[in-house]
Amino acid sequence: MTSTQKVPITVAYGDGIGPEIMSATLEILEAAGAQIEPEIIEIGEKLYRQGVEGGIHESAWESLRRTKVFLKAPITTPQGGGYKSLNVTTRTALGLYANVRPNLAYAPFIRTKHPGLDVVVIRENEEDLYTGIEYRQTRYTYQTLKLVSRPGCEKIIRYAFEYARAYNRKKVTCFTKDNIMKMTDGLFHKIFDEIGAEYPDIQQDHWIIDIGSALLADQPERFDVIVTLNLYGDIISDIAAQIAGSVGMGGSANVGDQCAMFEAIHGSAPDIAGKGIANPSGLLNGAIMMLVHIGQGSVAAKIHNAWLKTIEDGIHTGDIYKEELSKKRVGTKAFGEAVIERLGLLPVHFTPVSYTSAPRPIKFDKRHLIRETKELAGVDVYLDWTGEAHRLGTDLSSVKVGDLYLKAITNRGAMVYPGGFSETFLTDHWRCRFLSKEGDIVKKDILLLQEKLINAGYDIIKTENLYKFNNIPGYSALQGES
Ligand code: NAD
Repeated sequence: MTSTQKVPITVAYGDGIGPEIMSATLEILEAAGAQIEPEIIEIGEKLYRQGVEGGIHESAWESLRRTKVFLKAPITTPQGGGYKSLNVTTRTALGLYANVRPNLAYAPFIRTKHPGLDVVVIRENEEDLYTGIEYRQTRYTYQTLKLVSRPGCEKIIRYAFEYARAYNRKKVTCFTKDNIMKMTDGLFHKIFDEIGAEYPDIQQDHWIIDIGSALLADQPERFDVIVTLNLYGDIISDIAAQIAGSVGMGGSANVGDQCAMFEAIHGSAPDIAGKGIANPSGLLNGAIMMLVHIGQGSVAAKIHNAWLKTIEDGIHTGDIYKEELSKKRVGTKAFGEAVIERLGLLPVHFTPVSYTSAPRPIKFDKRHLIRETKELAGVDVYLDWTGEAHRLGTDLSSVKVGDLYLKAITNRGAMVYPGGFSETFLTDHWRCRFLSKEGDIVKKDILLLQEKLINAGYDIIKTENLYKFNNIPGYSALQGES
């Protein structure tokens, strides 16, 4: 490759320790011969404080959408309300659906209780509880919306299996909470089984997230690649990084069909900013993933091997320095120089790294779209109401619209009518399920029902249409129903 073929990339120096670790990282990339052309953009705290929506200028989006590759140092999100997370915005706006975080223990050079740890967490990045759709519905009750789609699950799960193949991984494990969230997490698990069947060469299993996380923290060597939903992935990737030895070490890739963003997993560490002591390894490991992504795998391997040799040689920044394990305590700049000195050398203790191919981006194939019949079966009407469940139930049972009838009332999911226990704690948030007797219901009936309830003085805070897909209810069963 000649210098005329340099790949333009968008670079942000970020906040806190960001500028220090980015300078060290770019110096290493340049010394290793990476063929890149950085375009610098400003993001983060300064812009937030100037009132720039989302902490990023329009012109920066132009650069990102043109280069399609983003190397980003951490930024500080100012405390308090009103600031939208730039990370979440970037991931969703650019369609970066896969967050990939390799976690590796570097024993015996970096202290860890789990010397055999080698786990890649692949986290869904666009959906789940991170859509940021939240409401205060009553005086006492708040709601957040968890959205999980079939294409969203298909993309991330296929990516995880493709990743396992590309990097010669043996097993993919799925984490969900589908014993409770049977529809959303249930879909993720179901699609894991469906797509997994296309990869018989790769072992696969599923754990409920709670026991799965406990096992990950206690016996990480049981896991290889883990694929999971957004929130669980966020939490378990930090657990995996921490038990590997240090949050200062891990890099992360956020990959989509068209664009990709690479960063360290840690934040802007304002407590040590400007002191020249931060570990640049997390961002460097992110930059190595970026080089693989843009097809410069041999430069990536050269840097990775030099970095492993530096760690082996005991040249450590303060966060990983231990007198009995390390040889020399260095700052950010000196650590970068030590890596540069070792470019071309291979590690002796660790297995040298080589990169051939990165997993190809997954395009959702519209031919796979499922055509099912969709029939309206009823409506859940949510009320802000204070009172006794039996009174509400009796009152609503007398409301007649078409063939709709009151099936049941729940309070925060607990069945309170018909039946119910006096011990159940009640709030001001009620779900009243109206179903159609004969399936003879039209949308207008729902409006008429609402009109009657409003005229009767009820405060409707939300309605949710109940549909059957191929005659199977597309809504969760009531407590006690199977
Ligand atoms: P943090 O990761 O910045 O720091 C946690 C601890 O780890 C601190 O003691 C810090 O000194 C240490 N640490 C982190 N990176 C280090 C490194 N490279 N070398 C040595 N020590 C390191 O987490 P935090 O303090 O919770 O967050 C600080 C700010 O960063 C917040 O504003 C947060 O919103 C932001 N943040 C940004 C990102 C991102 O931009 N991707 C990610 C996480 C947090």
